[in-house]
Amino acid sequence: MRTAKYIATPGKGILAADESTGTIGKRLASINVENIESNRQALRELLFTSPGSLPYLSGVILFEETLYQKTTDGKPFVDVLQQNGVVPGIKVDKGTVELAGTDGETTTQGFDSLGARCQQYYKAGARFAKWRAVLKIGPNNAQGLARYAIICQENGLVPIVEPEILTDGSHDIKKCAAATEMVLAAVYKALNEQHVLLEGTLLKPNMVTPGSDSPKVTAEEIAEYTVTALRRTVPPAVPGIVFLSGGQSEEEATKNLNAMNKLQVLKPWTLSFSFGRALQQSTLKTWGGKKENVEKAQAAFLERCKANSDATLGKYAGGSAGGLASESLYVKEYKY
Ligand code: 13P
Repeated sequence: MRTAKYIATPGKGILAADESTGTIGKRLASINVENIESNRQALRELLFTSPGSLPYLSGVILFEETLYQKTTDGKPFVDVLQQNGVVPGIKVDKGTVELAGTDGETTTQGFDSLGARCQQYYKAGARFAKWRAVLKIGPNNAQGLARYAIICQENGLVPIVEPEILTDGSHDIKKCAAATEMVLAAVYKALNEQHVLLEGTLLKPNMVTPGSDSPKVTAEEIAEYTVTALRRTVPPAVPGIVFLSGGQSEEEATKNLNAMNKLQVLKPWTLSFSFGRALQQSTLKTWGGKKENVEKAQAAFLERCKANSDATLGKYAGGSAGGLASESLYVKEYKY
């Protein structure tokens, strides 16, 4: 409970750096960098040692390989994070597979030895976990999220519950709002049925937006629909809601989060970020796999961390970055 509350500290958020080896390979390919362990380590070291950035973060989600990696000076990443007040977390799902006989619906894998793996990760320093269920407009997967959550809690890890409705489609924002409410209601029913201690969990939802093939709407509209859906479904016992960015550009994701925190309605939970793509894109592009760019890339990362920290307080003025931060990061049927 203490960990969940700490992660939800206003002004701080989560860096999702838990891309699996396959997913990080795609990111590295986009900057012509080979997907080998030393390059994956170099990218993560750049992020975790970025001067001045860690005070804006309360947690970092790691992939298993990264949990055991060290800086080039031999210091475990876990120690670097802990010493800077950042809680190490771990992705415990094993990705999604398509369900036979459905129209591309997926289920999340990783229940095999989940309890034993949680114990190992706890020993290695992890204190929270993430499990991503992917939905394409429609309720599903709630039972799986609840089982994962209770197994984590039994093993001392704070579970981040992530039911992600993909933006794929030509639906309008109202349809996304209705689907989000339906999914979240099902998720909290399942969590309650499994006796998950809600005070010791965090929710990682999609923002409510129009589909990827629909015209865009303003940040204020996204904020209004998103906060309304959350107010209708997420109990006040949950300390924090940390959004995924889901293919929005860095700037869009930050502005939407800011607009939510500016809304003058009762919000009993902290609204913060757990962005992957929207925290790393301009950093990755600036780095380009080259040592001589590390400093500049770290400055780009600091700028995003600061902008999103401001957004958790409703104080982001906008326009913190140039062209790179406005690039759309949408990929159809994105796999993590
Ligand atoms: P994005 O912010 O890139 O959507 O990813 C966050 C995440 O952890 C997805 O599981």
